Amino acid sequence: MTATAPREERLWSRCAGCASLLYRKRLRRNLDVCPECGTHARLGAPDRLRQLVDPGSFRPLPDRLPEADPIAFVDVLPYPHRLSAARASTGLAEAVVCGTATIGGHPAVLAVMDFRFLGGSLGCAVGELITRAAERALDDRVPLILVTASGGARMQEGALSLMQMATISQAIAALREAGLLTVSVLTDPTYGGVAASFATNTDLVLAESGARMGFAGPRVIRQVTGRALPEGFQTADFLLRHGQVDMVVQRRSLRGRLTALLAATSAGRSALLPVPRQEPAPRRGRLATDAPAVAPSTSVSPEPLVGGSAAPAARDAWDTVRTARHPGRPTTLDYLDSVFDGFVELHGDRLGGDCPAIVGGVARLDGRHVMVIGHQKGHTTAELVARNFGMASPAGHRKALRLMRLAARLGLPVVTLVDTPGADPGVGAEEQGQAAAIAENILTLTMLPTPVLAVITGEGGSGGALALAVADRVLMLEHAVYSVISPEGCAAILWPDRSAAPQAARALRLTAPDLCRLGVIDEIVPEPAPAAHDDPAETARRLRAALLANLLPLLDMPPAMLVRLRRQRFRRFGAARSGARAGAR
Ligand SMILES: [Zn+2]
Repeated sequence: MTATAPREERLWSRCAGCASLLYRKRLRRNLDVCPECGTHARLGAPDRLRQLVDPGSFRPLPDRLPEADPIAFVDVLPYPHRLSAARASTGLAEAVVCGTATIGGHPAVLAVMDFRFLGGSLGCAVGELITRAAERALDDRVPLILVTASGGARMQEGALSLMQMATISQAIAALREAGLLTVSVLTDPTYGGVAASFATNTDLVLAESGARMGFAGPRVIRQVTGRALPEGFQTADFLLRHGQVDMVVQRRSLRGRLTALLAATSAGRSALLPVPRQEPAPRRGRLATDAPAVAPSTSVSPEPLVGGSAAPAARDAWDTVRTARHPGRPTTLDYLDSVFDGFVELHGDRLGGDCPAIVGGVARLDGRHVMVIGHQKGHTTAELVARNFGMASPAGHRKALRLMRLAARLGLPVVTLVDTPGADPGVGAEEQGQAAAIAENILTLTMLPTPVLAVITGEGGSGGALALAVADRVLMLEHAVYSVISPEGCAAILWPDRSAAPQAARALRLTAPDLCRLGVIDEIVPEPAPAAHDDPAETARRLRAALLANLLPLLDMPPAMLVRLRRQRFRRFGAARSGARAGAR
């Protein structure tokens, strides 16, 4: 821009959303988000970097590569002319700017695309630069953050552009194997070959508010289908609803969110390293080679119930079932608020759905980062309906699976909170493979190379509960239940009618003391009298203490040993041990 440029152009700009004429400086201060309507204007790579990284921390990686016009492409202009024009108008060498920086003090390598440069298209040079950025992240053992803005692969370089999707994906795979976090931040627009590779095959996918992402663009889809597209098609909120992204983030929150995620995941590996603790791990107690391993919980609770005599055997099992289902009972989100800190929720199964009956994400437990996954019910009818009564769909189980695997890759322990009447029994769930989804979770948990701690907090209903409860240690709140079938279901099958549910509840041995005796659970977390919903704060305090007491010893164990012991734990059930059960207490 020269001094003769129209003054107005520099002082004012028009919002693409509401057409307001905005004072340029004011818009800038607002991170190029319209103060009138909230529309996020597109940002070039330099502006994006300024907003995202700690001031003065950015060190660019080399951006010059040998000139390439691999197929001597000419449309109305030769390709090299288009390249020169893009360089002149943007001041950039290519459609991506890569470098190292810190975000909230956490080191990372960034690759930020610029849509102004030939539509952010992915050509050989862009592919090479992003691949080198990924390799730098691998060398430095730091996370890779990709900010995408692209119409897709670069036509002018033919099939060689297509190959870049594979090249970059390969570099991302290497980071995955090394347990290093990859994050993509989708900005508007992200389409085609970029959407179908590194924009979505990263560990975490954040969508900036207002971003649109898809494989095919809306115009193409309209042409092919001849149909109007639904309102909000391919927008960030659409993507969230359909399980494609972990979260939608306003521009002003992006840096904070990235900081939280980098903090959580950089802590992962070190959380598994042995560090001196006040309490040495009582290894023998967890080997589970004989009687159910019940850790001494005197340090956990002021009134331990696991000692035996204090167990509330007098309470009727049916009463316990009703207590476990009490609408006031704390839910997973309540515990995320009261037991954990700094929860960042992650959404979606990446296959088409985000199940509201399962919530999950990274959080801190007494300063340690963990992955928390739990069933979510609700306190009111509206909440219960919105959460499908805590009955997870296949998408819910697949979201949980994705988060478990992510936790293992990053070295984060997994804490699950189980509270479900059972997996969603609907037609849609069957169509989408509910059985296989549960089966895959169970299988994955048997070999997950990171500590897994499960707590039955309310209802532990059947396979839907076990899908989150194949763990190194399984705890249970005092008035929770855990059962192969609901008492009503059992009564309907084995008794003359469902009114026999109370008898069925007694017969099923589904209370915490019963299951502790059977070795299905390892420890009972006592509830304040009369039950958790009467004093949620005290319940949270006790749950937190029990989680810490059980998790810390697991952190000292090498993953291979964890997996071996976990398998032994679940091998001990059945005929081989039936004689030993009675004497266990
Ligand atoms: Zn506006």
